[in-house]
Amino acid sequence: MNLILLGAPGAGKGTQAEIICEKLNIPTISTGNIIRAALKNGTEMGLKAKEYMDAGKLVPDDVVIGIIKERLLEDDCQSGFILDGFPRTIPQAEALDAMEIQIDCVLSIEVPDEKIVARMSGRRVCPCGASYHTEYKKPKQDGICDICGAKLTIRKDDEPATVLDRLHVYHEQTEPLKDYYAKTGKLRTVVGQEEVADTTKLTLAALGI
Ligand code: ADP
Ligand code: ZN
Repeated sequence: MNLILLGAPGAGKGTQAEIICEKLNIPTISTGNIIRAALKNGTEMGLKAKEYMDAGKLVPDDVVIGIIKERLLEDDCQSGFILDGFPRTIPQAEALDAMEIQIDCVLSIEVPDEKIVARMSGRRVCPCGASYHTEYKKPKQDGICDICGAKLTIRKDDEPATVLDRLHVYHEQTEPLKDYYAKTGKLRTVVGQEEVADTTKLTLAALGI
């Protein structure tokens, strides 16, 4: 299954992506994680992206489109993939269409802005890419990653003021994608619940898996 996950920052795309990834054994492609890894490795692309990311702005389309084009050609994507965080603009969606890769379903996870702001303050991340929440998705040991044992941190762009900017960007630039994909008949919507397990049930039902 070739799947796109849409939703505001902090709506729970990443968490649902992990669950679907395990269930269907297809890779999750998170543009945010790819960019953060590039940044950590000090690549030119990473350094260019940093100022946008830290400010809560979108990284320019040509940069992320380039990343996705390369990534989707890799072997592990040939039996399906989950796009988490791409496309985020109409030009990105058009570029994906131009790649002539069939998309089966676009799942939009809806969470009201007030809830997002509250949730983001509890988000914790690990350098390995795993993410947690102090209330909704606690690691087994406080402040420590279950997967690799590293210390969890707060992402710079999860600071409250930046979250508001990111929500603004989401409504302006990403939300129009709902209409874009509704027109193709591929859009399915799930209302994000308080408990991850409840959202997961709705997700799996929406995907028929
Ligand atoms: P979230 O979904 O919580 O916003 P991500 O890790 O997906 O977090 O994205 C973090 C940041 O990475 C974004 O605010 C943006 O700067 C950059 N980014 C990720 N994906 C894209 C994209 N498709 N287009 C432009 N910028 C992106
Ligand atoms: Zn980790």
